[in-house]
Amino acid sequence: MTMPLYGQMMDVPLTVSSLIAHAARHFGDTEIVSRRIEGDLHRYTYRDCERRAKRLAQALIALGVESGERVATLAWNGYRHLEAYYGTAGFGAVCHTINPRLFPEQIAYIVNHADDSFVLFDTSFATLVDALAPHCPKVRGWIAMTGEAHMPLTMQTPVLCYETLLDAQDGDFEWPAIDERQASYLCYTSGTTGNPKGALYTHRSTVLHAMGASMPDAMCLSARDSVLPVVPMFHVNAWGIPHAAPLTGAKLVFPGKDLDGKSLYELMEAERVTYSAGVPTVWLGLLNHLRDAKARFTSLERTVIGGSACPPAMLRTFEDEYGIEVIHAWGMTEMSPLGTLAKLTWEQSQRPKAEQRKLREKQGHALYGVDMKIVGDDGRDLPWDGVAFGDLHVRGPWVIDRYFRKDESPLIDGWFPTGDVATIDRDGFLNITDRSKDVIKSGGEWISSIDVENVAIAHPAVAEAACIACSHPKWTERPLLVVVKRAGMDVSREALLAFYDGKVAKWWIPDDVAFVDELPHTATGKLQKLKLRERFRDHVLPSSVGIEGCPLTPLDDAALDLSTPLAGTRENPSVQ
Ligand code: ADP
Repeated sequence: MTMPLYGQMMDVPLTVSSLIAHAARHFGDTEIVSRRIEGDLHRYTYRDCERRAKRLAQALIALGVESGERVATLAWNGYRHLEAYYGTAGFGAVCHTINPRLFPEQIAYIVNHADDSFVLFDTSFATLVDALAPHCPKVRGWIAMTGEAHMPLTMQTPVLCYETLLDAQDGDFEWPAIDERQASYLCYTSGTTGNPKGALYTHRSTVLHAMGASMPDAMCLSARDSVLPVVPMFHVNAWGIPHAAPLTGAKLVFPGKDLDGKSLYELMEAERVTYSAGVPTVWLGLLNHLRDAKARFTSLERTVIGGSACPPAMLRTFEDEYGIEVIHAWGMTEMSPLGTLAKLTWEQSQRPKAEQRKLREKQGHALYGVDMKIVGDDGRDLPWDGVAFGDLHVRGPWVIDRYFRKDESPLIDGWFPTGDVATIDRDGFLNITDRSKDVIKSGGEWISSIDVENVAIAHPAVAEAACIACSHPKWTERPLLVVVKRAGMDVSREALLAFYDGKVAKWWIPDDVAFVDELPHTATGKLQKLKLRERFRDHVLPSSVGIEGCPLTPLDDAALDLSTPLAGTRENPSVQ
């Protein structure tokens, strides 16, 4: 047997410090603009950012933080949070970004599970920190990310001042060489069911993901872009933008805590933002503002929408009314997060416009670095015909192998089961139809709740809609549509059901509609269907009445008390 012939190229590890070092050296003057917690607009450059990240690294090392230790952040999108991204992972510590919108008990669980040594926090979370600190005895220090002039004065917890810590350091620091398989970032899933689980990324996975994310058929970021990530840096590393922007030299614009339509619009216009990314809910706010203010974008060119399904009506409004390209994307915490993006091939872009739209409404095509397949209940591959629904499995260098501090592997034959149900068509376009636990099984066939919701959302009187399974004596389950009406607008149950005619298969049309004041959401803004299913567990569909096995009579709205918001569904009230 002959020996393999090895190549003769440098063996340079893929470390996250190389990203900020590259930006500082080659895009040193490119700006990072942040709306600060202090209320003003802060601007500096990649060169400044690296210098300060080095001073943070020195400060943390002086506080005794060692390689491999977790340092947490509770912060909005801003320049200090970016410094924390690099000033921790850059020297071998692990940056653990915490979602402050989780309930305090969940945050305390996460901090303790991760064994965080220090927590860096924006002062808007001072109350939250006071609530957390007694439950997190192993945290050695809480660091307020501000200067002495803005330190929160009324806190019970002893806190350190970020700027004072940095001022004590000179920035004369070399990023150490570290193994690219060492941990870089730690993100927890939002724990819709059970306790949150940690995805522990490696330097290698983070850098490869940043490269993948920047590609033309992914986010297509470049040094000519001014990018404003609305997606929070505490939600799967803002989909990789804090890494992809320094890699490509894109200007960064951070919105801080003001994510309402007006604030976002004004910042986008002032900083000539060309590119953005966020979940559908934030874009709803932005579109409402544009409509009410009769405003138009003068610089924004494109935006990535993901995290939950982008309603086709939203895609149409962005593109047809405002001329903004929408890139629908799918991913998850366990995938760093990017998996697919809806960009067309040359051949697809020659097809009729309506057909192109249909493709781009789907979640899109796999990125290099992600392989995917759909499997049936027997674990066998299903065809890519756009019809067969199956469990979606993925694998690749930025997909998790196992969860942090959990022994059992979640993998099945080397693939990660996403928990999503999807179709893949002949073009290789993924269409997420449901979370596997949300799928509606009617007479042995599956109904896509997302498709049913998308039709409802296109109705002008509908602000938000959720489609859930309701038990049915004949069909096992039938769809129930739960709807929040747009303020000042009305629509009847009958009119809404008639609106489905010709838009979906007849048997997908919901059997009933319930109107509510609000829908429950998770901390990442996704519909919490588990809560809705519990609430409507005893709902009797009109179609069930009279069928053997239906013991109940339909309840009227008053009996269900539909006007009362569900307990525990609001965002963490201590956040703001
Ligand atoms: P968490 O799991 O913490 O709620 P993630 O961002 O990891 O947050 O959520 C991943 C899940 O979100 C996916 O598995 C999928 O169910 C859903 N999701 C993400 N993007 C889309 C999309 N474009 N369309 C439909 N569902 C999506």
